[in-house]
Amino acid sequence: MSVSTFKRGLRVPTRKAATEGKPVELVPPPKQVVIPINQHFGAPNQSLVQAGDRVKRGQKIADAVSPGPMTVPVHASIAGVVKKIEPRTQSNNSEGICIIIEAEGEGPAALVEDGGPDTEFLPPLDPFTCTREEALSRIRDAGIVGMGGAGFPCHIKLAPSKPVDVIIADGAECEPYLTTDEAALTEKPHLVVKGLAIVMKITGVNRAIIGMEDNKAHLIPMIEREVRLGGYSGDIQVGLCKTLYPQGGEKMLIAALTGREVPSGGLPMDAGCIVQNVGTLSAIAEAFTLGKPLIDRDLTVSGGACKTPKNIRAPIGTLLSDLPPEFIAIDRSALRKILFGGPMMGNAVSSIEIPIQKNTSGIILMTEAETWTEAEGPCIRCGRCLRNCPMRLSPVIMNYSLEADDFDTALTAGLMDCIECGSCTYMCPARIKLVQRFRVGKQRFRARQVLEAERRKAAEAASAAKAASASAAKG
Ligand code: SF4
Ligand code: SF4
Repeated sequence: MSVSTFKRGLRVPTRKAATEGKPVELVPPPKQVVIPINQHFGAPNQSLVQAGDRVKRGQKIADAVSPGPMTVPVHASIAGVVKKIEPRTQSNNSEGICIIIEAEGEGPAALVEDGGPDTEFLPPLDPFTCTREEALSRIRDAGIVGMGGAGFPCHIKLAPSKPVDVIIADGAECEPYLTTDEAALTEKPHLVVKGLAIVMKITGVNRAIIGMEDNKAHLIPMIEREVRLGGYSGDIQVGLCKTLYPQGGEKMLIAALTGREVPSGGLPMDAGCIVQNVGTLSAIAEAFTLGKPLIDRDLTVSGGACKTPKNIRAPIGTLLSDLPPEFIAIDRSALRKILFGGPMMGNAVSSIEIPIQKNTSGIILMTEAETWTEAEGPCIRCGRCLRNCPMRLSPVIMNYSLEADDFDTALTAGLMDCIECGSCTYMCPARIKLVQRFRVGKQRFRARQVLEAERRKAAEAASAAKAASASAAKG
């Protein structure tokens, strides 16, 4: 099988050995979960429960303030009693409203997979006989968002406004340390293939590629067997890419597997593609076959300060600090940095008392030796950030412009096309925190756009009111 790739890209140490090939272990039922009511990219939710309410596992507990397409509900991940609803720090370091559910007793029924007395799943639905609208509603009602990134609502992605002819299952998992996508391909290839077939049915696309880096080539026979057993030979292929960072980025995977380029400012559908993470595909399959909402997720817990590195399955809202030390043991004296996500694109957080969310692919507990401690130096204009940016942007110019509050130049240099892969930061000899600046810069730019839109709206309303009062005065 040929191995494809994209232009540029880095060889970074993969640091996956500690969890690679390890089975996914179900966490001991947690005594509580802290569930953020907003875990998606889109319009905000409100709580549907109050303190004191008893909830079942799978019960909807938060949904949109007002109906709209960019909304995704949230469900209770364990059965128990709502203790509090209050702001807590989330993995993006911002405060957000969370519903805290305490398991009753020891919570023995907390992790019942389906049909137990303490569960409230959706009724199973046949994705191949229901209508497209019913299928999209099921994906929304099950609270499914992209589990490999920013939490984009899945039902929106599957209803593209442009023609699409290829679906790509993203199993590249190029971030160091993380091994849960590999575990999904190893332990539940039938669900990944089924999820892919459901997506193909919904979108009417008859070609799909399961994309993986060549360090997972040993999984090909097993995946091809599932494809054959499902009767999808000819429609679903496996595509092998070079083990290169950031191969798992949507735009990189599309370039490697189809040779197409997503235009600047565009989305995968602008290249005729939809990309879905393999974990998300497996959640889609379960939303139909079991009626199971997105209430658990697989993630990697690793890093030098983790004495028990492993892949785990945890209810959404689980705190690492609530897991018993015999399950996850942390060397607190060696712990220097906690990351939600991988070291290239993840967020550094200040505590392990932060809930696992729908998009938490890993928690990495790092020692001094695994982190950079050098202070930032001045830019020496070496150009390494430019040469290594997979999006062919100008990180050094973006950085200077943001420092000068010059958004126009930062935008021209490509700020909004930055995929926040961290390659520039990794390569910068001056240790300038480039990607962190770009993340903040993008947030500031979006906030500025919202403010400008509000100002425009207010000015239009004022001028309409003035015109109405002038016409009333004439009349
Ligand atoms: S890599 Fe760092 S030091 Fe080199 S040009 Fe880019 S920002 Fe400057
Ligand atoms: S500018 Fe953005 S896309 Fe380019 S290397 Fe840096 S983080 Fe990655």
